Amino acid sequence: MDQIIYPDLSIIILGHVDHGKTTLAKALTGQWLSKHSEEIKRGLTIKLGYSDFTIYRCEDHGYFTEKICPICGKENAIIKKISVVDAPGHESLLMIMLTGAAIVDAAILVIAANEPVPQPQTLEHLIAFKYMGNKPLIIVQNKIDLVSKEEAIKNYNDIIDLLKKLEIDIKNVKIIPISAINNININYILEALIDIKKDNRDINSDPIFLISRSFDINKPGTDIEKLVGGILGGALLKGKLKKDDNIEIRPGLFIDNQWKPIKTKIVSLKQGNIDVDEIIPGGTAGIGTNLDPFVTKEDTLAGQMLGLENKLPNQYNEIKVKYEIIKELFNSSEKMQKGEDITVVLYNMISNGIIKNMEKNNMITIKLERPILGYENDRVLILRKINKRWKIYAIGELIN
Ligand code: GDP
Ligand code: MG
Repeated sequence: MDQIIYPDLSIIILGHVDHGKTTLAKALTGQWLSKHSEEIKRGLTIKLGYSDFTIYRCEDHGYFTEKICPICGKENAIIKKISVVDAPGHESLLMIMLTGAAIVDAAILVIAANEPVPQPQTLEHLIAFKYMGNKPLIIVQNKIDLVSKEEAIKNYNDIIDLLKKLEIDIKNVKIIPISAINNININYILEALIDIKKDNRDINSDPIFLISRSFDINKPGTDIEKLVGGILGGALLKGKLKKDDNIEIRPGLFIDNQWKPIKTKIVSLKQGNIDVDEIIPGGTAGIGTNLDPFVTKEDTLAGQMLGLENKLPNQYNEIKVKYEIIKELFNSSEKMQKGEDITVVLYNMISNGIIKNMEKNNMITIKLERPILGYENDRVLILRKINKRWKIYAIGELIN
């Protein structure tokens, strides 16, 4: 019997389009995460894919993702389980990447070693991830099979220079040369993942669960008595959730021109794909509810927040933000305008908004199309539409 180890670390694979994110996810998990047909047609990763994988160790030959050591054929010991969220790299899909980055514990940034550093989404993803709270980062130089040793070293130095320029502490970043498609050096990524410690998780605060997917898992034509309630996928940011807890989802459903919170009960919990009675932060989790599955089908509740009844942070239709332009991405002469349409990202929540008021000292008031929830001083990302594309423009602090 396998010893039960819960997947308690979740990672996102970031990086510029075609640098090898999906190929790396395949090398780690043994499956292609972009399985939605539209994505396959367009050759892009649109929705966030989920998958778990296990890291095993052979005493003589090191770390593997297979149960049987491919070198000596002996059975490996289970070390750790990890959930992977595969992010889209195409720039129009920036917001999906941001919500993915909000729910994970750590990231792998894939940089193709055969292209100049940084490519636009390499820079954007690196900056966005930095502002998500300095989570652990592993950088892989991919496609090492396509470059000479000298080119690989130059690419490495360019990455170090970029990190320094962005004021990212290089002590917290591992850089590993790999070839995802040839399975070269994947074991060093496994070692780096094992080394990630999560000793600062907060289990005593009111729970906040960020919903990134929602499903109706019933097959069409299922008998009414056998119907299973709506399922919510995502990550617990802090606190604990237990079976039978009375929960609330906000902003909820838009009915009769207003947002109504959804109240329900937890009927089952999964950490990765293992049934548990309680979840704590770390990894991705699934929550079974007694909601009508119609309410949860097709990711309708993605981007909402879940907590215990009456214990969620404040919900705002209008927010005041003190912001700073991200100077690595924007020239500070391009000022925002009153009345301009912008997008606000807080945790896994995204809302369009209009700048209602601008004050001196970088303070703006934004009227939101869709309410968001947050605590004072929470970090908000502000996106602006430049040449028809949403770009990360500023980082702000919630003042309300
Ligand atoms: P994504 O857009 O970042 O998800 O990139 P993909 O994983 O789809 O990879 C883009 C292309 O690069 C595909 O044609 C891959 O086969 C190729 N590729 C990925 N990893 C490697 C590698 O290590 N070496 C080489 N030569 N090609 C690779
Ligand atoms: Mg991809």
